[in-house]
Amino acid sequence: MQTTVTPTHCPYCALQCGMNLTPAPDGTVEVSERADFPVNRGALCGKGRTAPAVLATNVRLTSPLVRDAGGSLVPASWDEALDRIAAELRRTRAEHGPDAVGVFGGGGLTNEKAYTLGKFARVVLGTSQIDYNGRFCMSSAAAAGIKAFGLDRGLPFPLEDIPKSGCVILVGSNLAETMPPSLRYFTELKENGGTLIVIDPRRTKTAEQADLHLAPRPGTDLALALGLLHLVIAEGRVDEEYIRERTVGWEDARAAAMAHWPEYVERITGVSVPQLRETVRLFCEPESAMVLTARGPEQQSKGTDTVGAWINLCLATGRAGRPLSGYGCLTGQGNGQGGREHGQKADQLPGYRKLDDPAARRHVAEVWGVDPDSLPGPGRSAYELLDALGTDIRSLLLMASNPVVSAPRAAHIEERIRSLEFLAVCDVVLSETAALADVVLPVTQWAEETGTTTNLEGRVLLRRRAITPPEGVRSDLEVMHELAARLGVEKGFPTDPEEVFEELRRASAGGPADYSGITYRRLAEENGVFWPCPAPAEAMDGGEDTLPDAPLPDDPARETPTAHPGTPRLFLDRFATPDGRARFVPVSHRATAEEPDDEYPVLLTTGRVVAQYQSGAQTRRVAELNAAAPGPFVEIHPRLAARLGAAEGDPVAVVSRRGRAVAPARITNAIRPDTVFMPFHWPGEGRANSLTNPALDPTSRMPEFKACAVRLEAVER
Ligand code: SF4
Repeated sequence: MQTTVTPTHCPYCALQCGMNLTPAPDGTVEVSERADFPVNRGALCGKGRTAPAVLATNVRLTSPLVRDAGGSLVPASWDEALDRIAAELRRTRAEHGPDAVGVFGGGGLTNEKAYTLGKFARVVLGTSQIDYNGRFCMSSAAAAGIKAFGLDRGLPFPLEDIPKSGCVILVGSNLAETMPPSLRYFTELKENGGTLIVIDPRRTKTAEQADLHLAPRPGTDLALALGLLHLVIAEGRVDEEYIRERTVGWEDARAAAMAHWPEYVERITGVSVPQLRETVRLFCEPESAMVLTARGPEQQSKGTDTVGAWINLCLATGRAGRPLSGYGCLTGQGNGQGGREHGQKADQLPGYRKLDDPAARRHVAEVWGVDPDSLPGPGRSAYELLDALGTDIRSLLLMASNPVVSAPRAAHIEERIRSLEFLAVCDVVLSETAALADVVLPVTQWAEETGTTTNLEGRVLLRRRAITPPEGVRSDLEVMHELAARLGVEKGFPTDPEEVFEELRRASAGGPADYSGITYRRLAEENGVFWPCPAPAEAMDGGEDTLPDAPLPDDPARETPTAHPGTPRLFLDRFATPDGRARFVPVSHRATAEEPDDEYPVLLTTGRVVAQYQSGAQTRRVAELNAAAPGPFVEIHPRLAARLGAAEGDPVAVVSRRGRAVAPARITNAIRPDTVFMPFHWPGEGRANSLTNPALDPTSRMPEFKACAVRLEAVER
């Protein structure tokens, strides 16, 4: 076992906190502060501190499992398991065509794995049916960012800019629970005299920190943003010069906003006109201001338009592409950013290229050594792919995702997964989804392998291997290498992450998310590099197989045009559109896909708690986290609880058109009386996603996790 201290990063959320790992003599791994990493400056939340608990062999898989004739999952050799997967994928293709094989990835996969998974699907399997759980995370913000700015990068500036801004509006983000170390940026903002405005239907721990908290009805953030823009116009706070010089499309967006009178918006949202006016004042008076969104406005069937409305507010007030101002999305999953850039998304090729762009197909096909015409076209989005399991899609290869818990309308998705002819899952633990598989492959995880991730700032990071993996597990890259070989593709699927990254550099070169100037060496020396970071043009023109290392910061050559420093701040000179101008996109309020009615009179919204992460597959195996957050609950206002006759801790059934979940009542004034909240980390009776609505945003194909109609029923203790 190695015994040195290894600087690396947390396996969980998109903050990608830096940490040091040290193997202890008893076989455990110690986490210690890594103060040199600027994002978290040594701070970690409980999930990060306890992450090594999931490395222990008593909670994880260390042998492949294969379902036997009696229906049980039993240990098998790697050859037996891989042979079975290859045979089933080959059979499915032969009997039903390549699109009958599906691939489902995850926002936790490293860039190297996400890249290889996309290549594996398109080159080895020839299927268009690949998407990933990151679709459920940030796709609405990505779609809106591309429409307005021509580019999607979560934050167009580093977190360190936040405390220097004059005002930040945080929309639908409870980062005090989802990424606690980031809260210090907002505390510093206030210490510096800036204003924090939080918009959330619940008075969360984050909202408690705010100078102003607005609590709109779930699903009405779009109307709220339009009402604010209406007031900006009415009060003469529009930045006409900025609009003239840096944008197009203002007149249509202006007309749409003018239809949203403050009194009308108050009726829709429940936010009073004086609160709207105060928000506009606080946002417009300082020299700089930001709007940051998270899953609240994004996980809606109108998520793209909702984010677009917030972007319009920024553009109308000249708060985008200027120092300490802008719109940003707080990406959720560990590699939610990088995972959407390199090809596991249904419509994308590496470098954030579009699969339906002939030039992009030619470029990537050349790197991959295949005919561009052999690459399939765009496939189904995540929910649509899962919904097609057992019908159009007969076999599925799934990595790093647990849709039985995390997908909307989860009981239906579980039934679709059960109806598959064949399911193979790669995971570190036997998740609820892995438990349904025909073959389960035990794979290495964060501390046991090297790879890169890209955090919410667009900062590409190097996660280093700190310990030797346990006997019996292999990396996802080895899995894809072995399967490719068994399916007749002997070359092009290396198992060394750096070799994969070198190819990713070439595939991304010239694309929107250009990594070609980034190397493992630079990442190690510079504590991360922001994309886009193009390689020297001559290296590209020369068509070299391996790009040269870009010079390091202390290298005098860095000042020459051949050394790109990376791009911490985007859009300061121009936006990434053909003419360099941002686009206003006219949007109007519309209702959620499922409004409350007599039968289902209450709104359900879902989210996370500090001690659990996403579907809980990892964190539910950590004793300290389970002690802090042992199970689901229903957050409910005292008035609603009284009508139901429920006391604190009483079991309450929450029923939607899709299912029923039962969990103890947590009675609090911190939520609106017309809304209940459930965290979504648990399977079984308290599974919040049994209730959620898969109504999709027409552009991003994001399901409406954040608002659906339910009724409450008292349950006998
Ligand atoms: Fe890990 Fe996120 Fe917690 Fe940081 S905030 S320690 S990255 S889970």
